Amino acid sequence: MTSAIVVGASVAGLLTARVLSEHVDEVVVMEREGLTDDASPRGHVPQGRHLHLLLTAGLDRLVAWFPGIDDELTAMGAVWVDGTRAWVYQAGGYRAQGDWGRPALSMTRPLLEQVVRRRIALLPNVNLEDGVVVDRVDVSEGQVSGVVVEGALRRADLVVDCSGRSSRIAHQLRSSAILAPPVTRVTIDCAYASGFLPRSADDFEGTFLVCGTSPPTSFRGGAVLPVEGSRWMVTLAGVHGDAPGTSPEEVLAFARGLLSPAVAQLVERAGPLSSDASYRFPFSQRRHYEMVRRLLPGFVTLGDAACSFNPIYGQGMACAALQAGALGETVRELGVASAELPRRFHRRAAKIIDAPWAIAVGADFLHPQTVGPKARGTDQVNRYVLRLIKASHTSVELARSFNLVLNLVEPTRSLARPSVVARVLASSVPGRRRQARIGHPRVGPPSSV
Ligand SMILES: Cc1cc2nc3c(=O)[nH]c(=O)nc-3n(C[C@H](O)[C@H](O)[C@H](O)COP(=O)(O)OP(=O)(O)OC[C@H]3O[C@@H](n4cnc5c(N)ncnc54)[C@H](O)[C@@H]3O)c2cc1C
Repeated sequence: MTSAIVVGASVAGLLTARVLSEHVDEVVVMEREGLTDDASPRGHVPQGRHLHLLLTAGLDRLVAWFPGIDDELTAMGAVWVDGTRAWVYQAGGYRAQGDWGRPALSMTRPLLEQVVRRRIALLPNVNLEDGVVVDRVDVSEGQVSGVVVEGALRRADLVVDCSGRSSRIAHQLRSSAILAPPVTRVTIDCAYASGFLPRSADDFEGTFLVCGTSPPTSFRGGAVLPVEGSRWMVTLAGVHGDAPGTSPEEVLAFARGLLSPAVAQLVERAGPLSSDASYRFPFSQRRHYEMVRRLLPGFVTLGDAACSFNPIYGQGMACAALQAGALGETVRELGVASAELPRRFHRRAAKIIDAPWAIAVGADFLHPQTVGPKARGTDQVNRYVLRLIKASHTSVELARSFNLVLNLVEPTRSLARPSVVARVLASSVPGRRRQARIGHPRVGPPSSV
């Protein structure tokens, strides 16, 4: 009889339980928070009150593991969005609309967790225990034998730490000098504010709107996406100290400072909007388990506990899903109790994390205020990507290539394909430059005077 304990029943923990259920006889998920069967925000996942878009790579895994979940989510109000009526403003213009390769499913984070939890509850060999705080992992004779809850040992062949960025287990193992992976931190000092507005079809001539930061001069971004309950979810984010407030006046003033006026116009039309919550994210953080020579048999880490990225790129959940997939693959190959498992898994996971880390942290270095280890070549890559973004204002093909990379479907190196490079170069040749879409999206007239 093989067994695994997953610490944390958030996105990483739930998806990990799903993949392990195929290869392990008994999977127990332990979650410190008492869970309810609804889609309300959770106290221990405060970021769930803010916009959470699941990138395509994550959605693909979700649908593969829980067939029909996309239809289930849609039936509960999640909304498909694609490039055809999208308004994404960056580097002085909007990305060309059209076929961006893959649609995305827009919903709130609590809805996603609720539906995944329900699917997990249907798995006969997975048991979700909520209201259970894991104090620490038990390490004896150089390996993890289980977790300690209220002083009692709960044994398992494998413990998976999915307890998030501030993982107590990571701190325990570091402070007792048992497992201390090198840690990389890159400061971004990001602040979020979010709220909901009622949504109607004539609010706005598109399906969603994103306005990115424009370094080095603009530190603020914003997004408006349709979510369940016929609502717009509006999130405003600023970096390096440019924080949105939460009152209607502060929210509107911040939105008016975005480079696209459409977010503020939509807030004016459908508002007033006050933020339900604010969130500060000081730095992206990566624990490099792949660099540790002697990992602990019986123990692996994934999700935000391994790596948490500047959230404005929306990568965390998809990256956790990809890591969970890699863990399932490794357990299938080696067996859950293999001493080799942590090393093989963390090498795979590191390769998965490399791409979103390079995208997020690399772009953050466009802000001169960003501090942390900067990979060689970052400035050259950023210069090229900036040209590509500008070229994507007129080229649907480039908008698609970029979108697929941002959604972790295509590797970052795909942007260096000759066909892509040729389009980027052509776009800057005078006379061959196509006419960019002019103006901002039309936002409907105020609904009340
Ligand atoms: C403001 C913001 C916006 C974001 N937007 C996006 C987005 O658009 N798209 C996206 O993909 N990602 C986004 N992210 C990232 C995303 O929230 C995380 O990557 C995601 O939550 C995966 O995290 P996780 O499951 O690893 O950890 P968490 O979600 O942090 O969950 C950890 C879980 O472990 C439990 N736990 C902790 N300690 C213990 C313990 N000792 N015992 C038992 N249980 C424990 C907690 O209660 C919690 O349920 C955003 C993040 C932030 C901060």
